[in-house]
Amino acid sequence: PEKVSLLDIPVDNLAMTEAVEVLVDLTDSYRTQQVAFVNADCANISFKNDDYRKTLQEDADMVLADGIGMKLAGNVLKRPIKQNVNGTDLFPRLCAELENTGKGLFLLGAKPGVAEAVANWVRENHPGMLISGVQHGYFSADEEPAVLEKIASSGASLLLVAFGAPRQDQWIAAHKHELGSVKVAIGVGGLFDFFSG
Ligand code: UDP
Repeated sequence: PEKVSLLDIPVDNLAMTEAVEVLVDLTDSYRTQQVAFVNADCANISFKNDDYRKTLQEDADMVLADGIGMKLAGNVLKRPIKQNVNGTDLFPRLCAELENTGKGLFLLGAKPGVAEAVANWVRENHPGMLISGVQHGYFSADEEPAVLEKIASSGASLLLVAFGAPRQDQWIAAHKHELGSVKVAIGVGGLFDFFSG
């Protein structure tokens, strides 16, 4: 899809329905595709943090403009983007598309119990969506290999990582070759806290 450079971040210029379609297509990819949501806060961090900016420029296969701030920045900078594609609107649509496809979801991140609560939200609202696994985001460096193994052996197609930016996106970039059958790995910030009730 068409990229628009906003504050040195290559943003995919997609409307919500298009973004969902592309993500569904990417779940048939031959390798793990990295997706990042960037809001105004993230753009600010990226401006100051070279490693994060490089991750968005070089590691991410897809960057979605999350929040009205990015839409406004596009207008002001005369690089208008189609739509604000935020994670809280996108997540239920993605679940609806992946229901009954056998493509599983792994939820990684947030405080203990939160990912499990999001899994329960999914089970209630999208009963045909396969949950491949859950794991909280407060594991130690020593525990990391076991977490990677848990994901790699889960059979998941879609991995959501909720550690907050920039850590989640740098974590995905560092580990995308260790995620087994995961085809799409998305950094989702505070999304789990929103869907945990
Ligand atoms: N988080 C985590 N592990 C950590 C630090 C944070 O899993 O070591 C989680 C935190 O519980 C929250 C999420 O990361 O659910 C995102 O936090 P925040 O809302 O601060 O991130 P943002 O949406 O601003 O990127």
